[in-house]
Amino acid sequence: MSLEEKWILSQHPCFNSAVERWFDRYPLAVAAGCNIRCHYCSRVYDCMNDNLPGRVSKTLSPREAFKKLHNAQRQSERIRVVCFNGPGEPLANKETLDTLERVHNHFPQLIKCVSTNGLLLEDYAEKLYAVGVRAVTVTVNAVDPALGRKIYGWVFYNNQPYQGISAAELLLNKQLAGIREARKRGILIKVNTVLIPGLNEEHLKQVAVVVKQAGAYTMKVIPFIPQAELAQLPATSGKMLHQVKRELSTIIRQTI
Ligand code: SF4
Repeated sequence: MSLEEKWILSQHPCFNSAVERWFDRYPLAVAAGCNIRCHYCSRVYDCMNDNLPGRVSKTLSPREAFKKLHNAQRQSERIRVVCFNGPGEPLANKETLDTLERVHNHFPQLIKCVSTNGLLLEDYAEKLYAVGVRAVTVTVNAVDPALGRKIYGWVFYNNQPYQGISAAELLLNKQLAGIREARKRGILIKVNTVLIPGLNEEHLKQVAVVVKQAGAYTMKVIPFIPQAELAQLPATSGKMLHQVKRELSTIIRQTI
């Protein structure tokens, strides 16, 4: 592990919960649109906010976001990480890179962190590295396209719509290639997985193995909230969440 990676682990609460009481993350909601359709998404919640449930953030322009961060920085010395986590897909919105560039120029010492569904991660890995991104969270809910097609409705990539198995296959291939590309550059990867009872609870071990092989450092299991097309499925119980996390911890480090 490089010195820079060790430094990120000593500062970033998503990768090291022990520092949560000392250091803060500061979210900048500049990404409105999304390039895939998750069947559990009603766009009521921030899709990539780890601390669900939360109301959807008000989207800011890059200028507003920068100003907000600037003010917050003046008031708090605890901010160590700037996160780009929604409310839509950060990499599908050009505002994300515009804001990252501006933030990195003015605050090179802050860790820049992006959460993504992974569809564009491979394509953007180099650009993200250039604007200071050293930590990325990728949401991977399935590593089997036959299951993935039950979770994702469509994917829009390179001006082309994909549906069914081809959408799930494309998304999975891009997610894994994206994790590998980001890792090659020394970007630390956390994988978020939504635990959807009745769909992927038996599949999470496979997800853990595959994402670890691709280069993920840690994994966070997110409880499912019934809504949208998957509203008929039960919510994840605390017991199930605890049990699954315990099982997965033998495969890959678990983030609380
Ligand atoms: Fe919703 Fe996020 Fe999925 Fe897009 S990636 S559909 S915003 S949950």
